Amino acid sequence: MEYNNAQVTGGEGKPPVVKCSVINCLYNKAQECHAKGIEVTTDHPWPTATTSVATACQTFRPQDETIWHPDTV
Ligand code: SF4
Repeated sequence: MEYNNAQVTGGEGKPPVVKCSVINCLYNKAQECHAKGIEVTTDHPWPTATTSVATACQTFRPQDETIWHPDTV
C-alpha cells in the first residue's frame, strides 16, 4: 500500500506507520508499528529538522519495560 504526503500527514483516518526497523520497541511486530499513533519530534535545531536522522519517535518503549522508567529519561 502506498500513501502520498497529504495522506501521511493528514489527521483523522491517517494511515499507521507500516514499517519501522526498531525491533526492540514494545509496539514493533515483524518490523511494523502497531501503536495506535506515534509522536515524532526533533531536538535540534528545534522544532525543525533538515534530515530524517534529526527526527525520533517519542512513542518508543522498550520491550523490556523494566529498563525504562520516565523518571530516568
Ligand atoms: S512506536 Fe515508534 S519506534 Fe515503536 S514501532 Fe512504532 S514507530 Fe517504531
